[in-house]
Amino acid sequence: TPRRSAVSAVTNRLSQSQTISFVDVPAQDYYASNVFTKAVMKERLPKPVFKSLISTIDSGHALDPAVADMVASAMKDWAMEKGATHYAHVFYPLTGITAEKHDSFFSPTSDGSTLSEFSGKQLCQGEPDGSSFPSGGIRVTSQARGYTIWDVTSPAYILENPNGTTLCIPTAFVSWTGEALDKKTPVLRSMQALNKHAQRVLNVFGHTDGAFVASTAGPEQEYFLIDRNFYYARPDLLNAGRTLFGAKPPKGQEFDDHYFGAIPERVLAFMCEAERELFKLGIPVKTRHNEVAPGQFEVAPVFESANVAADHQQLMMLTLNKVATKYGLACLLHEKPFKGVNGSGKHVNWSLGSSSQGNMLDPGETPHENAQFLVFCAAVIRAVYKHQGLLRAVVASAGNDHRLGANEAPPAIISIFLGDQLTDIFEQIKKGGASSSLPSGTLEVGVDVLPPLPKDAGDRNRTSPFAFTGNRFEFRAVGSNQSISGPLVAMNTIIAESVDFCATKLEQATKDDPSALNGAVQSLIAEILDECGDIIFNGDGYSSEWHEEAAKRGLLNLKTTADALPHLISPENAAMFSEYGVLSERELHSRLETYQEQYCMSVDVEAKLALNIARTMIFPAAIRYQNELASTCANLKTVGYSFDTDTLDAITGLVKSLQDSIAKLDLAVNDDSATNADEACRHRCEIVLPNMLTLRETVDKLEEFIADDLWPLPTYQEMLFIK
Ligand code: ADP
Ligand code: MG
Repeated sequence: TPRRSAVSAVTNRLSQSQTISFVDVPAQDYYASNVFTKAVMKERLPKPVFKSLISTIDSGHALDPAVADMVASAMKDWAMEKGATHYAHVFYPLTGITAEKHDSFFSPTSDGSTLSEFSGKQLCQGEPDGSSFPSGGIRVTSQARGYTIWDVTSPAYILENPNGTTLCIPTAFVSWTGEALDKKTPVLRSMQALNKHAQRVLNVFGHTDGAFVASTAGPEQEYFLIDRNFYYARPDLLNAGRTLFGAKPPKGQEFDDHYFGAIPERVLAFMCEAERELFKLGIPVKTRHNEVAPGQFEVAPVFESANVAADHQQLMMLTLNKVATKYGLACLLHEKPFKGVNGSGKHVNWSLGSSSQGNMLDPGETPHENAQFLVFCAAVIRAVYKHQGLLRAVVASAGNDHRLGANEAPPAIISIFLGDQLTDIFEQIKKGGASSSLPSGTLEVGVDVLPPLPKDAGDRNRTSPFAFTGNRFEFRAVGSNQSISGPLVAMNTIIAESVDFCATKLEQATKDDPSALNGAVQSLIAEILDECGDIIFNGDGYSSEWHEEAAKRGLLNLKTTADALPHLISPENAAMFSEYGVLSERELHSRLETYQEQYCMSVDVEAKLALNIARTMIFPAAIRYQNELASTCANLKTVGYSFDTDTLDAITGLVKSLQDSIAKLDLAVNDDSATNADEACRHRCEIVLPNMLTLRETVDKLEEFIADDLWPLPTYQEMLFIK
């Protein structure tokens, strides 16, 4: 069986001894060595050009087209010194992947030689045909023109390959009409909106320097690693990224012996190389550890400006996959590769800050006196309350449906965890004014040799989808495989809207009398809590009581992608996105259409795979075993022995239900009676997926009975525990 050969390949694997010497080249020397950083720009660009670029990058000023030629030429020289022969405009289509089109620097000349060239125009603008990318109706195939436009705010970098390197330029991807066809454009637009309104609040508080207020993001990435031989022996993993079958192993994650355990050697070697590659790309990876499920790990970088963080996150996923291959591993980014053990998320830590104000969600020592912080925090509360549906919609996907609401991931109900200290302050404000902050105190351990530690003001709550974690919010519902751009666009825009609301109130109240500020802040926050306070929940989000309580509070509980996606285009959301110039109604609809289509396609692929595996791998194994039992039974009878037919009966029953389930799923897959996208999603969600689950139950039962040497698929224990 493919399984046997996979196991044997794993057993006989020679360990790679790739050594990375951090002595010869210290780690800090790798950092950003392949990035066209500000330092490189400063060194290679004339001063006025450099200044002009920096004012675009740091302050959001319009890019001066006149500088493009000089930047292009400096970039090309830098890249060619590093061995680059090509440049690529990198963009982020709605598929969620990273796309790139490569062009050579070299053009033939009339004397038969070649000349390297790279003009400002080539830097600023590309025109990939790209008609095959989903546009959700914005473009028909005959109107294929799409443009990639240089995003100055995200640094260009070199991607190395043993056979040649490429200069990569992060770009936005838009249609001939200027409409966004990608994930980046709305991130940039939403950051602009957030800055505009945050400035107004800062003005009210007397901070008028105008330093750009950027949203910041720190995405923690969870992933699984399994041996690549198993990956290739499982058509479901290879094609759908998750196992569609697999009985629960006798040992799962119940011992909690993997979480933060010692990192296995092969995995650590992989991590070191992946981190070094990320380091070269200027991606500030910081944290690595074993996660809860066997074979599950996490990597987290230091936060960056949201737009750069989003690009870096895409590079991180690519790098994890690429480096895993070198170590004979497959990196699984799917939200739920294995049933019965934890799935993988991507916690997106979010805040806003500027060079002069620092982090605006930092409460400081005495948060009750920090009115500016309280206003921004209240704006977040209001935003999340008013746009729960949107936040749920932007994390909706076929993969994430298996994770959200399961007992290890945040529930599908969106709520905010504030922690004791902030909750207490907001309660005080509601009652008329906050006069104190709960002290954070010191940690007493009762061991003299351990130093006393200052205690955090709030505990953690792992069950909350949107948690305040000391100086930022952590959106924990994002799936491990998803681009973080959608969630960032949603957070930036809904918070921009609420900050706008707050700014307007405060401006009005203080127009004639600046000393009215404190009273205005007090009544603004009290008003927000009154209207939106129901979104705050500090308890156990996994509990069934919370589901009841949330229903009483009237919070949304959108369990599936089919329920959640339509909230993208709810009248309030559509109005908000167009008012803040983030997505026009047409762009928004195109996104809904694309995501619905992707949901349906993902489920269809899984269903077809399930049928294929069940018919061509499971059924044959089952009847071979059935035949073996039957002939043993017949043979024994002829020589006068009796044979207990329990197992044969069970197998025969299971073979029958296998055939029935296959037939039913086949019918469900081939039913194309849906007349619109909503119906098509509902059909996948309510008919196809449940039928796949029924089929899975039978197959997983069979796995418990069938002779081990006949079972074709690598099992959970093999995949999860062989290191
Ligand atoms: P935990 O597992 O406790 O949530 P990690 O250290 O794994 O913490 O990840 C925390 C993430 O939050 C890091 O990426 C960190 O850089 C990020 N973060 C910290 N401060 C901010 C901030 N102001 N804005 C955005 N992200 C932040
Ligand atoms: Mg973490």
